[in-house]
Amino acid sequence: MNYDELWQTVLVELEIQISRPNFLTWLKNSSFVQNKDGEILIALPNHFAKEWVEAKYHKFILGSLRTKDSSIKKVGYIVDRNIFKKESSPPAETVLAKAQPNKDQLSFLEEMKIDPESGLNPRYNVNSFVVGSNNELAYAASLAVIESVGKKYNPFFIYGGTGLGKTHLLQAIGNEIKNLSKGKIKIKYVSSEKFTNDVIWAIRNKRMEDVKKNYRTTDVLLIDDIQFIGGKEKTEEEFFHTFNTLYENNKQIVLSSDRPPRAIPILEERLRSRFEGGMIADITQPDYETRMAIIKVKLQEMNESLPDEVIILAAKKIQRNIRELEGAINKIIFYKNRKNNLFDIGQAEKIINELTEQSAINITPTQIIKTVASFHEISPADLTSKTRRKEIVEPRQITIYFLRELLNLSYPYIAEKIGKRDHTTAIYSYEKINRLIKKDQGFQQKIMIIKEMINKSNNL
Ligand code: ADP
Ligand code: MG
Repeated sequence: MNYDELWQTVLVELEIQISRPNFLTWLKNSSFVQNKDGEILIALPNHFAKEWVEAKYHKFILGSLRTKDSSIKKVGYIVDRNIFKKESSPPAETVLAKAQPNKDQLSFLEEMKIDPESGLNPRYNVNSFVVGSNNELAYAASLAVIESVGKKYNPFFIYGGTGLGKTHLLQAIGNEIKNLSKGKIKIKYVSSEKFTNDVIWAIRNKRMEDVKKNYRTTDVLLIDDIQFIGGKEKTEEEFFHTFNTLYENNKQIVLSSDRPPRAIPILEERLRSRFEGGMIADITQPDYETRMAIIKVKLQEMNESLPDEVIILAAKKIQRNIRELEGAINKIIFYKNRKNNLFDIGQAEKIINELTEQSAINITPTQIIKTVASFHEISPADLTSKTRRKEIVEPRQITIYFLRELLNLSYPYIAEKIGKRDHTTAIYSYEKINRLIKKDQGFQQKIMIIKEMINKSNNL
């Protein structure tokens, strides 16, 4: 077996190990470059794939290669953008500087610092949380929870729109308690998706006892985006018992959701009243001053600076979502550093505009269809055809998702555009992709990459 083939077998093993979207996003365009005295070099299509593969899959890759060829000692990775063109060109480390991260890629990479035991990411803490009128109640209640764990506000329920700091607060509560108790208090942070997966896994593998033990012996349980638990019977049942066990033992429970308990339609009454029995605080959109303060804190954290006018512009224009605001700042800083600090205000403006609604107006449905098709290496005609082949169905759903998400087109119109379908298909597709994005980080990443491509296709 030559090394190309060897690499292909490693890929096959990896593909079984990780989810398909993850595989496609990070590894599809990888290739073997060379073997130099047992040091294998693998090329990946961009800087982010490189970082991600190094952090997540390196151990697996090395192990897998060594079991196949014991002379292999090391594995290294390089960025080679030419892979896309399938040319055999020399390793091009220099192109690294040209890689362009998008906001979600940056935060995605950040997430790797998570402690697998507690689910806590040390990046989030109370000091880095900027307090404004939009979140002061949630913030104050968080401090009270940290001070008197399990005693004062239990359960504590935080709700608010996306990108407004719910996860930040949940994580900060966990980190703060962890540090203050010097690790004596057992903390567990999970997304409701993870909780659900654990329960499903346990049912399948007859390991419910493990899951019970895992969740019911913790001192602080933080569950993020609880709205996704509603409606899944077994999961809700397990959650209910976990909740009761912890609650009766004065263990702290903190929950977040995108809406208040009463607005989670399928939530069982008994759970809803429990939630409402504790402390409920909402987070709303930050005002201009708070947005300014947040940018300044983020810059400080990065040890970076930007001209005032850029900070003001970003704070004025990006209003709805702090994650987006942060993404814009990250991107501007990235460009600034790439140009050796020669700052280009026009570039900054462009980045900000891209993120605000106006930029989407110029995108056409055709652009979306073409971009999604080309990303998946299929033809636009396939997307709008009647075929139900699996490799076409998902790209089609993704197209529908973008037509709705970016252009806010009506479902009947989308259904018509995408091959004269029924409008319920469009609704179903949109919702399905939304759920996948929330559930699967790899998939989310793929969507972000396509979105970036659509935006770019707009500037051509
Ligand atoms: P949510 O969970 O509500 O969708 P996140 O907690 O993930 O939102 O917040 C998105 C990003 O915005 C995070 O990087 C977070 O650190 C940042 N952020 C949100 N609110 C604040 C705040 N008040 N101060 C500082 N950073 C914030
Ligand atoms: Mg969140």
